Amino acid sequence: MQALIRQLLAELGEDPSREGLVDTPKRVEKALKFLTSGYEANIDEVLNGALFTVDYNEMVIVKDIDFYSLCEHHLLPFFGKCHVAYIPTTKVIGLSKIPRLVDVFSRRLQVQERLTNQIANTILETVQPMGVAVVMEATHLCMSMRGVEKQNSFAVTSAMLGTFGSDPRTRSEFLELIKLRAGAMSAREMSASVNLACISD
Ligand code: ZN
Repeated sequence: MQALIRQLLAELGEDPSREGLVDTPKRVEKALKFLTSGYEANIDEVLNGALFTVDYNEMVIVKDIDFYSLCEHHLLPFFGKCHVAYIPTTKVIGLSKIPRLVDVFSRRLQVQERLTNQIANTILETVQPMGVAVVMEATHLCMSMRGVEKQNSFAVTSAMLGTFGSDPRTRSEFLELIKLRAGAMSAREMSASVNLACISD
């Protein structure tokens, strides 16, 4: 990988042997390996031993989880907050495992929509709750740094599964509790515009 990065620097018109860049290939390789380390994580291992049987079936919410990912179209960062909720049937998952799950899927090349769905579907499959909701709000550097569609550079995506999809009251209770920074627009309304600028450029 380091040889490729050295070549990339030269292609960009740089001198890869100048002092400031000599160790750059090594650093970039290390950074990229960390930022894509989610491919190697085993979900079962991550969640191992963290499922507990409880008599609780109110909404569980973990909000404002920071996440950092890389857009697969430009290899540029997108990052923001992730909010997760589920309504247990018989099992709950250790609360610290939810941010860990968000990290595993974020540390891959992603589009925000797929990332959102992967987190929701994994919780659905492992915890088997009545419903799962995931909302992600993110700034995409591929849009804001390049000056493309600046007004859409803040994107919101949502996955509403089970009762969150079928029961509008459950869904709005969740949306009320997370109080989107995006303001009055609902996650559903905004998700339509997500990533369009990124994909088309
Ligand atoms: Zn992009």
